[in-house]
Order: sequence, then structure tokens, then C-alpha cells
Amino acid sequence: MNINRTNITSEGSLPMEQIVAIIRSVIEELNVPSTLHQPIFRGHEWEYLKDCIDTGWVSSVGSYVDRIEQMLAEYTGAKRAVAVVNGTAALFIALKLAGVEPGDEVLIPTLTFVATANAVVYCGATPHFVDSEFATFGTDPAKLDHYLGDIADIDSEGARNRFTGARIKAVVPMHTFGHPVDLDPLVELCSRWKLEMIEDAAESLGSFYKERHTGTFGRIGILSFNGNKIVTAGGGGALLFNNEAEAKLAKHLTTTARKPHKWEFFHDMLGYNFRMPNLNAALGCAQLENLPDFLASKRKLALRYIEAFKNVPGVKVVKDSPFTKSNYWLNALVLDEEVASQRDALLDATNENGIMTRPAWILMHHLPMYENCPRMDLSVAESLEKRIVNIPSSVSRICA
Ligand SMILES: *Cc1c(COP(=O)(O)O)cnc(C)c1O
Repeated sequence: MNINRTNITSEGSLPMEQIVAIIRSVIEELNVPSTLHQPIFRGHEWEYLKDCIDTGWVSSVGSYVDRIEQMLAEYTGAKRAVAVVNGTAALFIALKLAGVEPGDEVLIPTLTFVATANAVVYCGATPHFVDSEFATFGTDPAKLDHYLGDIADIDSEGARNRFTGARIKAVVPMHTFGHPVDLDPLVELCSRWKLEMIEDAAESLGSFYKERHTGTFGRIGILSFNGNKIVTAGGGGALLFNNEAEAKLAKHLTTTARKPHKWEFFHDMLGYNFRMPNLNAALGCAQLENLPDFLASKRKLALRYIEAFKNVPGVKVVKDSPFTKSNYWLNALVLDEEVASQRDALLDATNENGIMTRPAWILMHHLPMYENCPRMDLSVAESLEKRIVNIPSSVSRICA
């Protein structure tokens, strides 16, 4: 992605009418809805859902659950995928399996959806907020490395925060709007600092970093199939594993930890009922079959936006880098710093004209339950928070 901060109008104000007109003409040309993101069902969705109802397999067991797990493993290149009830539950289980314990700290971006932080707290651990880089919106490996040098030591148990005394157990990069974090230096940093990496790939199904699917670089990766994601199961999530034994344990843990037996209900550990119902898996399978078509449609839309906004003063549309392939889940306008104060006026101008736009999330360290958590300097995320406006990004109503 390439965001420079030049070319502002002489008056220093955003050309609101022009921006509205450009978005309208692009989405009309490509037959894209004016909502931010809505699902599209034009494959085998009805057929598979009807099959669940006709056969009675609607709930916690069924062939579509196995099938979606196989499809996900095959597509992402992970050794195994385990389907669960949503992405948040997947994150929680991933952190637990990686050994995150009460009192630990977990490094997560402040620029993320609240689920990333919540999952850390569900483990009894503390989110420790990390800054983004402009180029990816995601974790800045160099800045994080420098920061760890200032605040952490390594002992026999791994990294320890010199100021809080807590063990720093893991890093959770998040691939914002589908754009991959710069993973190579982050993987290297994790091995040097003895940190587990759990990838929050909830937004990046179909995104690749140097030809390898996001979510397969860390110890565990997670996906989400919420209604607003690139592929929906109505609701759902998945864990991606490179380790067969760990995947087996995840399946056991998320299905109440019951030992298989003819009639006995013997549970050998504290388990969770985090299964993905077969109905949801059926919807997800049908959607996944269309993923290549969805990706082509989204790439086309993103490239049209990039082209159309090329000479518009004050705004940039983010583009993936030569070594990444974004799924372009959500397109974002990034306002130049000089016009950041006009973000809300732009939100008004677009929404009032029937074009749905939204700001990025409020940063995690600005939320009441997270305002006292440890953090590094977060100036890039602070700047991005004020400057990002997401614009309509659904798949086209007509095939790509
Ligand atoms: C959607 C999302 C999740 C998980 O979402 P669920 O709604 O629980 O499936 C987690 N992290 C990020 C960044 C997300 O966008």
C-alpha cells in the first residue's frame, strides 16, 4: 500500500461532492450495493441448507462440518482446520492452546475489532497494545522490536515485562481489512523474543503474504464467517493448525471434551460447547465454493476505486504491496493528515447521499475496559483512527 501525504486543494478542504460522485459511479458501474458489506448467495446455499433439513442433520454433528474443515485446510494450506461457533471463540481457544494463562500479557494491535482484546481477557490475561504501520494498517514489527528492547527481558520462561513483572506470552497480528501484516520480520521477532504468534485472520480469508495464506504463519490462525465477512456461514469461525495433534486437542476442547463411547458421557477435561452447527457449515461450504469469484470481484472493485481516486486531493485508497495479495475485504479511504478534521463531514456527506461509509473502530485503549492496559507509543494507530473511512465493498451482484 502506498499512502503519501501530498496534493491538497488550495483551500485545504476535501471535495465532498466529487468523492460522493466517484463512489456512486464506481458502484453503479460494477453493480455493487451501496451498503458497506453485504453477503451474496448465488451458489449451492439453498440446496445444502435444504439437505440439512431434509436429512435432519441441522445441529452439532453433520457432514458439512467435516466438509468445511476439509475445504478450509485445502484452500489455506493449513494441515488442519477446526470449525467453531464464531471467530471470537476461535481466538479464545487459540490463545488457550498457545499457553496463555491468567496474569500473562498478550501483544495485540490497538487498531482492531474488540474481539481480539476480549479473547485475551477471557483467558485471564492482559492486552498489551501495539502500534500499526501506515503501509499495512497492521502491527509494525520494527517498532515493536525496538519497544520490547526497552521494556522486556528474556528469562527461562520467555519474555517478561520489566515494569509489570508479567510474562509476555504471545503476539496477535491482525490483517486489517484483508491487508496482510508484514509477517517475515514478525515471525523472526517472535522466535527471538520467545513469543507465540496467533494470527487473527478473521478479515483475511483469501489474502496471501508471499504466496502463503494468512493465518498459517503463526502457531495457530483464526478465521471468522460472520455475516459481514468475505464468506459467511451466518455465524462461525475456524482455527487453522500446522500441527495435527494440536488440531485434535482443539476439536476435543470445543466439543465438550467428551471421550467417544457407545453410551457413556465421560468428559476428561473442562471443555466448551463451541461447535459450528451443521446448518451454518452448509451455508459456509456453499459460500466457500464461490470464494474465487468473490475475490476476483473485490479485486476489480478495489482497482477501480484506486484508479478513480488517483487524482482526488486529500484522499488515498490503499493498495496491496508487490509481495502481498489482499482479499480487499473492505476498501478504505485514508484522508491526508491536513484534512483529517473533515472525516465526520465526509461520513455525513456520503451517508446522507445513500452511500454507506463508516470510520475505523475506536482504538482499543480508548474503550473504558481497556484504557488502563499497558501500551507502547500508539501514534500511527491514533493517526489512522482519525483518517480511515471505509466505503462500499460488497461483491458485485453480477459474476466477476
Ligand atoms: C470479525 C472479527 C473477529 C471475530 O468475529 P466473530 O464475529 O466472533 O466471528 C475477530 N477479529 C476481527 C479483527 C474481526 O474483524
